[in-house]
Amino acid sequence: MAVLNHEARALALLHWYTTNRRDLPWRADRHPWPILVSEIMLQQTQAGRVVPFYRRFMARFPTPVALAEAPPAEVLALWSGLGYNRRAIRLQEAARRIAADGWPPDAAGLQSLAGVGPYTAAAVACFSYAEQIPTPDTNLQRVLSRWHGRPLNGRGLIEVAQKELPPGRAADWNQAIMDLGAGVCRPAEPLCTDCPVVQWCAGPETYVAPPSSGQFRGSSREARGAVIRNLVQQGPATMPQLSMQTGLEPQRLRHALEALAQEGMVEQSESGHFRLPGS
Ligand code: SF4
Repeated sequence: MAVLNHEARALALLHWYTTNRRDLPWRADRHPWPILVSEIMLQQTQAGRVVPFYRRFMARFPTPVALAEAPPAEVLALWSGLGYNRRAIRLQEAARRIAADGWPPDAAGLQSLAGVGPYTAAAVACFSYAEQIPTPDTNLQRVLSRWHGRPLNGRGLIEVAQKELPPGRAADWNQAIMDLGAGVCRPAEPLCTDCPVVQWCAGPETYVAPPSSGQFRGSSREARGAVIRNLVQQGPATMPQLSMQTGLEPQRLRHALEALAQEGMVEQSESGHFRLPGS
């Protein structure tokens, strides 16, 4: 009976997906490069916000080689505004590895690239290489926990998801879960009455949303983002100029600059000006 249930649930989900799938630009291409770029951009960022950044980025860096050879300042300029700018620098590191050594052949190998964790590696391997594996993001965790009526995570989540995958349809199934999680099985107030798999679901009560990653306002991330944005828009600047232009207190600015320098996103010239690397 359990087997019949999960097969029927997968069929209903895939049927729903054929008419409800989100039209996202990176889904038009099965090459690993657009998939890797989009998945890095989608980390902690909603798809709707990613789309214009993705289009600009891919127009300028259509291949790993194009990104590998670009000045980091230009990479950061195209990324600035999306947030978590460190992702851009790590993606460029990954592009340099790919340009030099070629693409790793599977999910395990993809995890050796800078900035690529288990989810991103699984997404590239599944959507581009057609590996029949689950892509364990927060949508998968939430949706499957609700289906099964118990909190799932880590190895347990992967094992349950692996059994749910319809043979040969892993890519569509994973993307259907993402779209269901984004539009129907939302973290708060899931739309169960509109859900295509409601008859095979234990209900929304099992999933408890994880605590938020903290306030953005007043955070170090906010200060670092303000510095990068300012250097992109105004060019190199001294510490007093940066303090005036960003409105950051000197101590907060100093901490932000130290962190950015450590992450390879800012450098200081002999004249004392801070600038983006390669600018
Ligand atoms: S029935 Fe509700 S809780 Fe279950 S998968 Fe659908 S939206 Fe989520």
